[in-house]
Amino acid sequence: MALSEFELIRRYFQQPGLMADPLLHPGVALGIGDDCALLDFGAATRLAISLDVLVAGVHFPAAADPSLIGERALAVALSDLAAMGATPLGFTLGLTLPVAEASWLAGFSAGLAAAAQRYGCPLLGGDTTAGPLQVAVQVHGTLPAGKALRRDGARVGDEVWVSGQLGAAALALEVLAGRLSPEGEAAAALLSAYYRPVPQLALGRALLDLAHAAQDVSDGLLADLGHIARASGVGMELQLAAVPVSPAVLAVATAGRASELALGGGDDYQLVFTAPSAAHQPIEALGARLQVLLTCIGRVVAGADVEVLDAGGRRVPVAVSGYQHFT
Ligand code: ADP
Ligand code: MG
Repeated sequence: MALSEFELIRRYFQQPGLMADPLLHPGVALGIGDDCALLDFGAATRLAISLDVLVAGVHFPAAADPSLIGERALAVALSDLAAMGATPLGFTLGLTLPVAEASWLAGFSAGLAAAAQRYGCPLLGGDTTAGPLQVAVQVHGTLPAGKALRRDGARVGDEVWVSGQLGAAALALEVLAGRLSPEGEAAAALLSAYYRPVPQLALGRALLDLAHAAQDVSDGLLADLGHIARASGVGMELQLAAVPVSPAVLAVATAGRASELALGGGDDYQLVFTAPSAAHQPIEALGARLQVLLTCIGRVVAGADVEVLDAGGRRVPVAVSGYQHFT
């Protein structure tokens, strides 16, 4: 049977002798398994790093506007810094190109530059090779010593929160595949959610003092909450009616399909986090200050599963497993 992406990482890369040994590498505060690795070197600041590889035909259509490819590649990578509460320092770029075409490169680099300026993350270096189109972005960020929003900090009794509205990027994939052609504004809203995700950097930074655990929604809400639940050794109960669904999705999809997309679709790059109920008011105030919608969607419970409940408290069977390569 084919290995799942996560099984593969666990079996072959999270192995002793390859991973950092805490005794030999005390500077590696956090290795494989979270949104970023964390490196300490005795200063007041720690370094957070994360690599994302985007492959043409898998993560974006090869014929997409090159400026949007560039902008999205950096935004998506920065989302992992946001998920740790880190502040961007700079990025390195690994670019594999079938042909060196000036107009494509001008568009791609303009998109990268727009995101680099918007998020304060300059290009530091990289590597360029010939081959099938692929964009690898490694982001480097900083955190105050000893701090980070990790996946393993959720505690029973915490509330579960999500930023923004979900489902639009996943539905955009159907537009890109030609299976759906919504009219007018809905199409533009869906495509913009997919191509122009906004890494929640200010939110992540502010949550350092409020949240117990966090990660970004890249694989799908339930899958990503599952990562927090597993790392923290807890379960979660979500209220289906509370999960914020993108209005563009509600305009185009049936109610059932909209819920499926919000719970299981990926690529939204919002943050999900857990926080003690004492932080409820400060989190609402933070959302108002940053003008980011923050919704409490459930709570952390003893157990191991992420369950979705209807208005009557009954368990809703959900047939979504999140996005995974190789399955
Ligand atoms: P994210 O979606 O936040 O980018 P992933 O789901 O891609 O994270 O990866 C999960 C964890 O596995 C991360 O900590 C990542 O660094 C690690 N990882 C993924 N692929 C590899 C690999 N080939 N070698 C080492 N670590 C890996
Ligand atoms: Mg992530």
